[in-house]
Amino acid sequence: MPQIGFVGLGVMGERMAGHLVDAGHAVTVWNRSPGKSDALQAKGANVAPSLAELAPACGVIFICVSRTEDVEEVIAELLKSAKPNTLFVDHSTIEPTAAKRFAESLETAGHRFIDAPVTGGEKGAIEGTLTVFCGGRPEDFEFAKPIMEAYGRNVRLVGGGGSGQLMKMANQISVALCVLAMSECLVFASKAGLDLSECIDLVGAGAGASWSLANYGPKVVSRDWAPGFAVDLQQKDLRYALETAREIGASLPGTALTHQLFAALQYAGRGADATPALFEVIEGLSGGSK
Ligand code: NAP
Repeated sequence: MPQIGFVGLGVMGERMAGHLVDAGHAVTVWNRSPGKSDALQAKGANVAPSLAELAPACGVIFICVSRTEDVEEVIAELLKSAKPNTLFVDHSTIEPTAAKRFAESLETAGHRFIDAPVTGGEKGAIEGTLTVFCGGRPEDFEFAKPIMEAYGRNVRLVGGGGSGQLMKMANQISVALCVLAMSECLVFASKAGLDLSECIDLVGAGAGASWSLANYGPKVVSRDWAPGFAVDLQQKDLRYALETAREIGASLPGTALTHQLFAALQYAGRGADATPALFEVIEGLSGGSK
């Protein structure tokens, strides 16, 4: 097994890289801001001082940063010193058209690329139960799959370059609308004087159940908006989904509305809050908490 590189040690990446170390892989990590690699170093990971020094040592490099332009910047830097035929696996959620472009340009440069966005949130990253939607060549996927299974419970090839990101967009549309449904359900229950925990229990036992209600409902009860999946990241994904929808001719009125409602949190300086904070936007439209 080649030396594995891991770039981007945020909420998701730090945990994913940790599972790779725990699984016994030789892992070299790098993060833009110093300090975030300390825990991994203590576990046994090597820490590269720069991307230029990480690339030549690694046959496969995982990336988990933020937006399309961040992935582009990281790949450009890695390419300056990467070995021929390096496999790049990008776990960031980015535009599907950009992922396809990266696949094509890396192949032209003699490398390989898999777009591999994940779902399952911080909890899935901690527990190693993520779903990984992959786009790329079957032979590259077969090579990378057992490595990704250190943190992925469902690691699936869904098509060629960019397809993983298309599946992730479909996922994000569903996720966002479930957060809105959860918020409206609990604002209604609150205004009606119902017990919120009982509502989460009973609605969650039937056709109204959702991951969002089960996992975010209790956070609404305690008004815990501590970072998990941030509103800013959700908005990035919805923007990519709405742009892609325009390109392919899909009409997404509910997604567009949810994008506008999340924007209210960003205008209030709350982009770093976790997405269930949408509850307070709906509550505000209903006259507040009283
Ligand atoms: P995060 O906590 O904000 O971490 C982002 C990481 O990317 C940080 O390590 C950051 O470095 C690095 N980074 C950003 N721009 C960079 C650049 N231009 N050059 C180098 N490094 C850069 O984000 P996250 O929650 O881990 O999410 C990572 C990706 O996974 C995102 O695309 C997100 O949409 C996706 N995702 C997140 C979740 C979730 O629940 N959080 C779930 C599924 C998918 P610094 O430390 O220097 O800032």
